[in-house]
Amino acid sequence: MTSWSDCHRRDGQSISFVPTMGFLHEGHLSLMKESKRLGNKMVISIFVNPTQFGVGEDFDSYPSDLDRDFKLAEDIGVDVAFTPNKADFYPQGFDTFIDQEKLPNHLCGLSRSGHFQGVMTIVAKLFNVVNPDIAVFGEKDFQQLAIIRRMVKDLNFNIRIIGHPIVREADGLAMSSRNSKLTPDQRITGLCLITSLKKAQSSLKNNETNAAALMHNAVEFICSHPETEIDYIRICDPDTLDDVAEIDRPVLMAMAVKVGTTRLIDNMILNPDE
Ligand code: AMP
Repeated sequence: MTSWSDCHRRDGQSISFVPTMGFLHEGHLSLMKESKRLGNKMVISIFVNPTQFGVGEDFDSYPSDLDRDFKLAEDIGVDVAFTPNKADFYPQGFDTFIDQEKLPNHLCGLSRSGHFQGVMTIVAKLFNVVNPDIAVFGEKDFQQLAIIRRMVKDLNFNIRIIGHPIVREADGLAMSSRNSKLTPDQRITGLCLITSLKKAQSSLKNNETNAAALMHNAVEFICSHPETEIDYIRICDPDTLDDVAEIDRPVLMAMAVKVGTTRLIDNMILNPDE
């Protein structure tokens, strides 16, 4: 992988990169299209990274279909689909992890202990091996994008990080590889995430600027649906992820909700001036 990149960089080509865990959907493909627009050569990685899954999470049942992924990637014009092998990437004796002090102590980081340490470590490893000029990440994983931007700044990676808006199904459900695990009824229930975000947006438009009130409404709405279990619903500053009490500037409303056994996340920027 590295010699392929070195070779193209020596030729003056720029390399853009989209890391994924595979089971590709339109959200991934949209990142890839953006990536292709930004660089001359495009690399994706497909790797279900064990170090970002906690005990009892879905590492073993994470959906996978490499043949289908390769076909989709080829159709989009991906030059390399890099699929590192777990034993090569984490050989015996592997003992170095990247950590960050502040951003991981919010949102998903609170219920998924060690998750972002695993994410930063794998992304740094992938950056070192792929050696891209540009990397594209989805805003669906808003916290992840913020943490990667911070890591790239702090550790002097010479890589431009691009955020890409959330891609949704026609009915608004944020696309996710995990959606494939939902039963038809749960798929309908899953819409309560985006619906509650839209309700918050319209309450804000009607001058409800109290974050606690908006979060309370979202909790009530989501809990009125079967098989839901809220991990968190937060309204916070999009840069620091610190809680915001009164919405007087654009804020991030983010949530994680289990529907059955499937954990879904979604988010939206709420802007009082819109
Ligand atoms: P994953 O395979 O879930 O690790 O995702 C790989 C990349 O795709 C990450 O940067 C995600 O944020 C991004 N991504 C996943 N789903 C979506 C979506 N619905 N819209 C935009 N980006 C997404």
